[in-house]
Amino acid sequence: MLDLAVVGGGPAGLTAGLYASRGGLKEVVLFEPGMPGGQITQSSEIENYPGQLSVISGIELMQNWLPQAERFGMKHELDEIVRVEKQGETFLLTAASGKTHEAQSVIFATGSVPKRAGFEGEEEFLGRGISTCATCDGFFYRGKEVAVIGGGDAALEEAMFLAKMCKKVYLIHRRDSFRAPPATVERLKECENLEQMLNARPVKVLGDAKSGVTGIRLAIDSQGERDLLVPGVFIFVGRTVKNGALQDDRGNFLCAVESNGEVIVDLKMHTSVDGLFAAGDVRALSPKQVVCAAADGAIAALEAIAYHERKAR
Ligand code: FAD
Repeated sequence: MLDLAVVGGGPAGLTAGLYASRGGLKEVVLFEPGMPGGQITQSSEIENYPGQLSVISGIELMQNWLPQAERFGMKHELDEIVRVEKQGETFLLTAASGKTHEAQSVIFATGSVPKRAGFEGEEEFLGRGISTCATCDGFFYRGKEVAVIGGGDAALEEAMFLAKMCKKVYLIHRRDSFRAPPATVERLKECENLEQMLNARPVKVLGDAKSGVTGIRLAIDSQGERDLLVPGVFIFVGRTVKNGALQDDRGNFLCAVESNGEVIVDLKMHTSVDGLFAAGDVRALSPKQVVCAAADGAIAALEAIAYHERKAR
């Protein structure tokens, strides 16, 4: 019986494991099917993690997080959790390997992944000119021209955020009108340096390994192809919340989730199920930043410790 199972080895899960094992929980196991570190390891540049004076890669930022947590006793199991259930007071976790594990408490920190728009070079240049986060990468393009792909609320909000620091923003959407609420679409007019390009689809990234992204080729209805020469392309076409392990065969969730699938938590990362906590990008209203995911993980671990103490009384 584990004291705590941590599901997911990104910044949220690793911080949860560190705080829980250092805080006194005995059997703390973090489940992560790949090398722990999370999605920030896909980024070649991060400069907004507090305490980092220079731009470093996501891999550099994360390289010490696992050994630091292991120093205090946390164990890493190279496995994916496919199902989390609660039977009485005990959580039962089923792994992709077929193994099952029992735990007294669970911190669910599986993240959420930005959806891809599906054009040539998108994956290859992710984190190197192709971005899914204006808060993370907008500053790298201050005074420059960028393209934003998407037509929903998030895309428009992020485009307006970028317009405050970039020379020009091209907002590219494949349909003839935006999906975002009319009030948000109306606000676009206040951005003089934002050009709307409707009925336009990205075809391929222009660039190479040495120069990075130099532009994007678009297919525009009734106009043919056009190359936009921009060093940065931001994609906001939705996110996939990694909540599958919380669902049973009928698709019912173990705990309360938002309509977009994000796990609902209170300010202390408690879900609607006693002993089950959620942290990081997988939880509702997360700012989707490394520092915030780490903070969530710490809060969730402190609450897991308090939960154990309550149960022991
Ligand atoms: P994640 O980092 O997504 O980690 C979740 C982990 O859970 C993954 O390792 C995954 O393999 C694992 N997992 C998923 N499902 C299961 C399962 N069923 N069982 C076991 N394990 C599972 N943020 C910043 O603050 N600054 C930046 O500059 C910045 N740049 C970014 C650049 C890129 C290219 C990307 C993709 C993201 C960037 N972010 C940045 C965002 C940041 O990476 C995330 O906010 C942060 O990683 C979220 O941490 P997390 O632990 O919640 O989730």
